[in-house]
Amino acid sequence: MTRRLTTTAGAPIADNQNSLSAGERGPILMQDYQLLEKLAHQNRERIPERVVHAKGWGAFGSFTVTNDISKYTRAKVLQPGTTTKMLARFSTVAGEAGAADHERDVRGFALKFYTEEGNWDLVGNNTPVFFIRDPYKFPDFIHTQKRHPKSNLRSNTAMWDFWSLSPEALHQITILMSDRGLPTTPMNMNGYGSHTYSLWNEDGERFWVKFHFKTRQGHKFYTNEEGAKIIGETREGYQESLFGAIENGEFPKWDVKIQIMPEADAEQAPFNPFDLTRVWPHGDYPLIDVGVIELNRNPENYFAEIEQAAFSPSNIVPGIGFSPDRVLQARIFSYADAHRYRLGTHYEALPVNAPKCPMHHYHKDGSMNFIGQKTGHIDAYYEPNSYADTAKQDPGVAEPPLKISGNADRYDHRDGSDDYTQPRALHNLMSQDERQRLYSNTASSMQGVPKEIIERALAHYDLISKDYGDGIRRALEKQQPAD
Ligand code: NDP
Repeated sequence: MTRRLTTTAGAPIADNQNSLSAGERGPILMQDYQLLEKLAHQNRERIPERVVHAKGWGAFGSFTVTNDISKYTRAKVLQPGTTTKMLARFSTVAGEAGAADHERDVRGFALKFYTEEGNWDLVGNNTPVFFIRDPYKFPDFIHTQKRHPKSNLRSNTAMWDFWSLSPEALHQITILMSDRGLPTTPMNMNGYGSHTYSLWNEDGERFWVKFHFKTRQGHKFYTNEEGAKIIGETREGYQESLFGAIENGEFPKWDVKIQIMPEADAEQAPFNPFDLTRVWPHGDYPLIDVGVIELNRNPENYFAEIEQAAFSPSNIVPGIGFSPDRVLQARIFSYADAHRYRLGTHYEALPVNAPKCPMHHYHKDGSMNFIGQKTGHIDAYYEPNSYADTAKQDPGVAEPPLKISGNADRYDHRDGSDDYTQPRALHNLMSQDERQRLYSNTASSMQGVPKEIIERALAHYDLISKDYGDGIRRALEKQQPAD
């Protein structure tokens, strides 16, 4: 059957090749609405790109729970044997939407689980920690990753100026400059929820939790030189590899694991378990198996399903909760807010974002409301109301109280913090070869940075370990011989 071409309002189009003009050599008529509609749509083909994580690659799949962790959580998505449809979007952080895929950068690892109790989004990275521990510094940090206002170029100086004044970043910088900072494909890296979240069970007990996603494809990485060569050949290497693998039926998988900390332990832990610059050592909090995720379906339309995919840490479901992690607290606001700006008020109603379970709310009107009022009765556009069978609260899903103590103040987040022990543990884990690459990658990211900033950074590296500081010094000399 031939499909008849129409305007967006459904009127059939007789000629899709020629504009309507007054005479063969004359001007176009204002009444050529087909043309006007076509041009107007083209003007609106882009939406604001994400300020961070603009360049991304995504696919759909499933999450199957293979172990029984019901003693920690009542979340239906985490009950043994449950399979839930999901979406994953991987991304670089700093580059714009057209940036090359194979750049050294942290990778976003965002997951959306379409659970029967609403969407659960775990918006993580391929690193278990982050550069900052206080969200107040996030816009400043991101400015150093983006373009200089005058030159419109990325600035190593801005980056190292900020980092050398923010020693809490050392742990994440160590991972970024290590082999893990340039994975060969999105399939060859781990994912981490990074933040501390909580789980709560049927008895109302709360446990702190960290989520881990271990690649079954193995860790693979490129050196800076290999990355540069690949970018010269293709800027879209991640899209090609992820899309291609799934088209070929090679479905990537990750083992899902958690670390659990009993609620009361948080008070006694020698480190702040809600600090995003810290991991929980596996020796103290071993990994517990949960299940497996598999990606097995490419999107039909990249823009509709990946560019418009809206992940937010605010999306949790009964049995999963937040924690006092400050960066998480800020992301709960800022991600949903970014999507309202980028996509519109009713962004969660777009097919890729819409829950697959029944959804009823009283949010009214606003841009792009194409779902009407989902409350159960046409007159019930407010609550409480006296109409039968309209959407009502369910005390059965009430979360146990989140215990918080302390006086409100602007506490110095750098005061007394140990920013060296965990990067040292990571440095100790690395082989000699890995260390040499770490030193060399760190030194090359310092190109063009004034000496006093480099010296300030090296003083911090010496506090991690003298080997680490000296390794970077040697690499700097090799790359920028003293004149
Ligand atoms: P473990 O030896 O038990 O764990 C070390 C972890 O380091 C493994 O999960 C391994 O991941 C990961 N790893 C190896 N090389 C790198 C790298 N270049 N960049 C990032 N991660 C890497 O030790 P601990 O749990 O005591 O942690 C020691 C240090 O390991 C930490 O300070 C932290 O820097 C790092 N780490 C710890 C994690 C944790 O949750 N405890 C998670 C990731 C890193 P894999 O299993 O994939 O090989």
